[in-house]
Amino acid sequence: MSRRWNGWGEDGARAAVPGSAVELLRDRLGTGVPRPDAALATVAQAVPRGRLASHPLVSMEAAARVQVACGQGFPDLLALRSGRFAAFPDGVARPSSREEVRALLEFALRTGANVIPWGGGTSVAGQVRALPSDAPVLVLSLERMSGLLSFQPEARLATFGAGIAGRHLEAQLRARGCTLGHFPQSFELSTLGGWVATRSRGQQSLRYGRIEDLFAGGHLEAPAGALDLPPFPASSAGPDVREWILGSEGRLGILTEVIVRLAPLPEREIFPAFAFRDLERARACVRALVAHGLPLSMLRLSTPRETEVSLAAAGRPKGAGLLEPVLALRGIKLGGSALLVTAVTGRRAPVRSGARELGRVVREWGGVRVPGLGGAWARSRFRAPYLRDALWDLGYGVDTVETATTWDAHAALQAALEGALASALQPEDERTLVFSHLSHAYPTGANLYTTFVFRLAADPEATLARWRRLKDAASRAIVASGGTISHQHGVGMDHRLYLPGEKGPLAVEAMRKLAAVFDPSRVLNPGKLFEDRP
Ligand SMILES: Cc1cc2nc3c(=O)[nH]c(=O)nc-3n(C[C@H](O)[C@H](O)[C@H](O)COP(=O)(O)OP(=O)(O)OC[C@H]3O[C@@H](n4cnc5c(N)ncnc54)[C@H](O)[C@@H]3O)c2cc1C
Repeated sequence: MSRRWNGWGEDGARAAVPGSAVELLRDRLGTGVPRPDAALATVAQAVPRGRLASHPLVSMEAAARVQVACGQGFPDLLALRSGRFAAFPDGVARPSSREEVRALLEFALRTGANVIPWGGGTSVAGQVRALPSDAPVLVLSLERMSGLLSFQPEARLATFGAGIAGRHLEAQLRARGCTLGHFPQSFELSTLGGWVATRSRGQQSLRYGRIEDLFAGGHLEAPAGALDLPPFPASSAGPDVREWILGSEGRLGILTEVIVRLAPLPEREIFPAFAFRDLERARACVRALVAHGLPLSMLRLSTPRETEVSLAAAGRPKGAGLLEPVLALRGIKLGGSALLVTAVTGRRAPVRSGARELGRVVREWGGVRVPGLGGAWARSRFRAPYLRDALWDLGYGVDTVETATTWDAHAALQAALEGALASALQPEDERTLVFSHLSHAYPTGANLYTTFVFRLAADPEATLARWRRLKDAASRAIVASGGTISHQHGVGMDHRLYLPGEKGPLAVEAMRKLAAVFDPSRVLNPGKLFEDRP
């Protein structure tokens, strides 16, 4: 099966939008008008001749270049569906060893080409988007570097080729009784190297940690030389070089191998869910639970509007009707509740006692157990990107923005962000459906992940203008409310403008200088993460 070129998953994999969700969208936004899709063959015909010198590892075939021209952000999806791309890379190479990566870097340096490292191409902030450029652009895809290279059960370490996709990595580890425990929603297609280069967060980071906790070391090929990162359990030998690589978005070098820290497979995992009448009490409950030290691997709290939309998108799961009267006795309407989905993970006995304690704390804050919903969430946890494509087929665009802030500022940030998105399209008399959850809770604060749905316009340029209005309004609201411009999606092109404000000019200049040490000719992914000086 090959990968779908203009959407999520493998060719032919599709999700259907249940009638209940279509009804809700028509009611809130008006009827969507499906827009025509471009065919790959037609787009490929419009691809200009590749400007790269010839090289045995480089293909300049048009369709192959279209398939790596962008990632999965909204402007990317719009290009993929409409066929209107700002630029195409001039060629693509799929090396299968460190030596081939080095040879390709040397080729790029010799011939004045730029290089975009490419993992799974799932980044959503424009990190792998090809930009118009005077220099030819080579996409260097890591897809052939995807093996398990070493497994050290005693040290709880494994080394993989950086291009391995999440689902294959996890399958290899599970077969050996271990897990990485890193499950971003893009798990099926995103890769280990991409996770490190974008500072990815998995859904169960509460137990397993974020990628910065799991990334033990590896090997990087940079234009200026090679870098080995040994997997010390800890070191006080100066600044941690791994931190330079985390979030570097392909600007410092190409990770060819990544060493990860493993956890044993849990004996038991359950996903209890709870409904709350009051969002603020639910938020306070999450805060209390983080401080409690229970064996939790996830706390995911949806706002009432998100609960309503999720239930509609699930086609109202079986049993939801039976629950309504029980919840009504407690003054809770399931579709209008703040829904907390949790995961309790670990050895059998702590999971049993932890689940009991979890139930007790949640009850104190007014939550009521909703049987079945957490399990249903876990079974469909990777379905959303397929739904996004199906909604597009109906004429609706979907995108997300995400941030993080401290607990004291969380509710205000949510109100500002949702308000900005809800009103952004009013000047053109269009409505936006906006809903949020928090899914990564820390002792000091939490992330906020907000989805917005709107109608596609009659032509791609007008749709892009609509999205820009929404994205700008959301980004400005985040910055004004003291949130980070990204908790998990990175910077790329779409958040770059906000980086100096968040980090300060000195830090951005230091990033630029660091990149110049690794990549003096600035051939690696120019324009991404920070602005390049002429
Ligand atoms: C539907 C959907 C759901 C998502 N859910 C989540 C989520 O839950 N959590 C989350 O954190 N993110 C999520 N993302 C965002 C995305 O999946 C992550 O940013 C992911 O880490 C990107 O991995 P990738 O392999 O696809 O990287 P790519 O998109 O291929 O590349 C991303 C960046 O990393 C660089 N890069 C890639 N591989 C290497 C390498 N080997 N060496 C050096 N640089 C490299 C690229 O140049 C680029 O700058 C989601 C995206 C989608 C579309």
